[in-house]
Order: sequence, then structure tokens, then C-alpha cells
Amino acid sequence: MGTLAVTNIGTIVSGDINNPILDGNTILLVDGKIQAIGNAGILDQIQPGQIVDAKGTTVIPGLIDSHVHPVLGDFTPRQKTLDYLDSALHGGVTTMISAGEPHTPGRPKDPAGVKALAVLAHKSFNNLRPGGLKIHGGALILERGLTEQDFAELAGEGVWLVGEIGLGSVKTPAEAAPMVRWAKKHGMKVAMHTGGTSIPGSSVVTADMVMETNPTVVSHINGGTTAVSTAEADQLIDQSDLTLEIVQCGNPKIADYVARRLAEKNQLHRIIIGNDSPSGTGIIPLGILRTIVQLASMSRIPAAQAIAMASGNTARVFELNTSTIAVGKEADLAIIDAPIGSVGSDALQAIEAGDIPGLSMVIIDGAVKVRKSRNTPPANRQAELK
Ligand SMILES: [Zn+2]
Repeated sequence: MGTLAVTNIGTIVSGDINNPILDGNTILLVDGKIQAIGNAGILDQIQPGQIVDAKGTTVIPGLIDSHVHPVLGDFTPRQKTLDYLDSALHGGVTTMISAGEPHTPGRPKDPAGVKALAVLAHKSFNNLRPGGLKIHGGALILERGLTEQDFAELAGEGVWLVGEIGLGSVKTPAEAAPMVRWAKKHGMKVAMHTGGTSIPGSSVVTADMVMETNPTVVSHINGGTTAVSTAEADQLIDQSDLTLEIVQCGNPKIADYVARRLAEKNQLHRIIIGNDSPSGTGIIPLGILRTIVQLASMSRIPAAQAIAMASGNTARVFELNTSTIAVGKEADLAIIDAPIGSVGSDALQAIEAGDIPGLSMVIIDGAVKVRKSRNTPPANRQAELK
């Protein structure tokens, strides 16, 4: 697959919430992985096949959207839109995690049908990578009648996600908790809808219900779209150690509340960022960047830490070997700068000032996939492939 060196970097944002900015101006990518991070001297022993001149700008990990509702292909019937996955790639997203495929037309609701859908979506997105984007599809929707044997069988087919609990007929903790135990026993990660009803047929999910069910991720603690109260948010923050997801298509006031409370508690590692799109709110190609900007500008989270919430934090929770700039990780990177006209002089300052950064390059598995985003404003300084 070859070597690519990213040189002349102004700032390296690691994606590690506890150590968000790294020293160095050069990153060496070999055969799709990060091989070295440091100063230009790391290139002494090697002749890279390709060189990217970052022009003094900021390199961040490729972003992860922890909450997408795909169907099959790069099409969604929810808003009748084509190429929305590729659009997110142009917002710096290199990995997406399905929270279920409930928008599948005529979605089956029997155990055999939901299993078939999860296997199909999982295997089809393994083969389909719009623009190079990594999509983890096939998140099982919990319906009545599923047995432990079904979870074992699905795990054997590679399915490792359970979509938001609440989308299917299994809604109460009494019904869901045993299935969550089976899912976890077979290595799966489990999301649970939290807050008010999103679409007709789904139900209100309280903090008590979430804690009794014990998922991996509290999906949209700020609502999808209707949020829990601050008292319930406090309960999840203070009485559990669950991962709390903040989504773009949710309630901005509770997002702000949760971010500030976790900053106070020094527990920012618990926040991950999702888009929760396509949804009734729409498709927001820059949704992950917008949420980072919201948290960094309005909630006063340092920009490099807000970026970690949409990269390293999520990778850690879902055990993905990407979206952290560290040796051995998959070489998924984005290069950003302040947009033209911003009051910020670099990407992090622009984000903290409330501006969407300009994205000039996306690299996936060590290969340049996007040169100049078609969705962000133009970056002041554009990285260049030499
Ligand atoms: Zn939801």
C-alpha cells in the first residue's frame, strides 16, 4: 500500500482526550497504519512514496459519527437523498457506526427478519465504502422473540452492534436487559434511545430505564430530538459510568448542560458525538463538525478535546483501531485550518470562536481520499499533495 508522509504540520490533535495535542510536525503512514509521529527527522531513514505538505495547518484524526441510520447503499429513503454518506466524508468523517437500520422500507419485525436485515446490512457495508468511508452497518433491532441462540448466530456472522433499544418491540428494561446481557456476552456493543419519542411508535425512555437496561451507550442524552430533564441527565452523569452520546439532531441546551457537568467532573472521556441522521431533522453533512464547534464555542470545551469526543473517545468505546493519532492505528486523518475570513488564526481558534473549520484533505488507510472539501468553507491554507 506504500508510504505517505504528512509534513509541515502546525498542530497535531491526537484524539486522546487526556493528551489532546502532540508534539511534532510530521506523521509517517506506512501500509495504511501510522508508523511514526515526530519532527522531520523521522523521515531520515525512509523515502516516502507520497508527501503531503500541510502548510502549517492542523491534522486531526478522522472523525467518527457514532450514530447513523443507514439503509443499504449511499441512499436514504428517510429524506430521499443520494450520496449523504459521501457528503459526511467531506465533513471529516471517516468512520460511521450504525444505530440501527429502522428506515429500511417495509422493515421486518419478526426475529428471522431482523436478524436477516442485520446480517445483510453488516455484510453489505463491509463491501461498500463510499469514497473510502468505513461504515459499520447491521445494528440488530431488538424485537420480541429473539433468543440467546440468535445472538450467538449473529455474532458468528460478524454482527457486533445492537441498534438503539426502543426502535423495536422490546422497550422495557425487563424485556431488554436479558437481551443486552446476551449481546454483551457475544461481544456486541449496545445503544439505547434515551429521552422523548422520536417517531410515532417509539417510546419515552427515562434515566431509570436506561440504568436498568445497562447499554454500552446512552444514545443522545440530549434527545433524539426531545431530551431528558436536567435531573435525569444528572442521574445518568452521577449514578452511572455509562458513555453519554451528544447528537447534532438533538437538544442543544441539554448538550451544553451535559458537557459542562462532565467537564466539572473531569469525565470528558465519557462523551461521544453522533449526528443521528438521516432523521426528521434532516441530513447534516457537517453535523459532527457542527457539534464539535457547538461544544467548543458555547460550552467552552477546548477544541482539541471536543475533537477527541468525536474520535478517540468513540474508538475506545467501540474498540476500533482508528481515529487516534498514535503509532499502530489505522491511518485515518483530516487536515483542517481556519476558514477564510475567520477571526481564528488556526483551526482550533476558529472552532472555539464558533466557526466551522475549512477541510483541505481527508486520508483513509494512508491514502488521500478527499482534496478540498466540497462542503466546508475553504481553508485559509490548503494542504497539498506533492
Ligand atoms: Zn434515538
